[in-house]
Amino acid sequence: MGVTDIFTVETSTRMRAGVVVPQDKTVRLAERPAPGHPAGAQVLLRMLEVGICGTDREIAAFHYGSPPGGATELVPGHEALAEVVETGPDVAWARTGDLVVPTVRRPCGSPRCPACRQERPDFCVTGEFTERGIAGADGFLCEYALEEERFLVAVPRALEEVAVLVEPLSVAAKAVDVFATIHARFGFDVPRPRGLVLGAGPVGLLAGMVLQADGIETWVYSREPEDDPRAALVRSFGANYLSAGGAPVERLSERIGNVDLIFEAAGSPQVAFGALPTLAANGILILSGIPAIEDPVPADLSRWMRDLVLKNQVIFGTVNAGRSAYQDAIHCLEQFMALFPGAVRSLIRRASFDEVPALLSRARGIKDVVRIAA
Ligand code: BGC
Repeated sequence: MGVTDIFTVETSTRMRAGVVVPQDKTVRLAERPAPGHPAGAQVLLRMLEVGICGTDREIAAFHYGSPPGGATELVPGHEALAEVVETGPDVAWARTGDLVVPTVRRPCGSPRCPACRQERPDFCVTGEFTERGIAGADGFLCEYALEEERFLVAVPRALEEVAVLVEPLSVAAKAVDVFATIHARFGFDVPRPRGLVLGAGPVGLLAGMVLQADGIETWVYSREPEDDPRAALVRSFGANYLSAGGAPVERLSERIGNVDLIFEAAGSPQVAFGALPTLAANGILILSGIPAIEDPVPADLSRWMRDLVLKNQVIFGTVNAGRSAYQDAIHCLEQFMALFPGAVRSLIRRASFDEVPALLSRARGIKDVVRIAA
């Protein structure tokens, strides 16, 4: 970053931001005061890119999320890549010019929350956490933001072009870490596992890449037809693709056999639990999608319970993510860029700041990314 940039930060008092205003049901571009100089262990960030996901669109449809306490507007954006432009006096490692990704969750204040007190707000027990750009705290869809250094993860410059994927990838990285902990319960060697990813959105595709790069024989199952570009993308990184059009979820095992791991990234309970008969003995179903609240749906509870018990199966839910998952995600991205760089790049479709309201209402690419600063 050059002297001109410092000058800009020093002198500009206003900045552009995307805002969601739940009480007026509006989503718009706005001018906001730029943050001041960082104090203590704070870092001033210049936002480079922000990815838009389904959660952001739910927020922009006023179904999810909340502005900061006392505010009427929320700045969304939690999948961010930024550059450090100024550091507070107590900052330990961040330096001007560093590339960083902020984490999303911020700890609750309760002394009785062991997770938040030990820097794992992703496992918060009170539910009183905030999430930047989602719940009770502004996000990063703006030109500058202040953040405490402990909530930043440094990213190597070599990854700059794809580092906006670190946050969504950390969802899969955390899930795989928990999976490995559970999988370690066997006191014997197991053959190469087989994995199934439900949903070919950005998280599903990234999870497919994680499994494939981990040596797991991977299937991605999604609604897109067999000749869709997403199917081609899945095959380009070495995984198998199966369209829901040709195989109802309940009959998946007839097509692909049983799998040891299912990673759900479709946000549909019918698809997630419909795939249970595909799960092998000792298998693990990971839920990462957040469905809208709907009317109750009938469920085959006795069959599920019987299978879970008699087959030692595990179902767990996972929500993003501690610092270690972000670091794992960075390592995964390095690995992906060595193995299948074209597939990683093709996830991203870049757009300008002016397109924010449109992107918040409808997806254009697999992962829409707003360019904020070049
Ligand atoms: C984000 C998570 C967040 C979750 C629930 C997801 O889109 O990636 O960080 O915890 O939404 O708000």
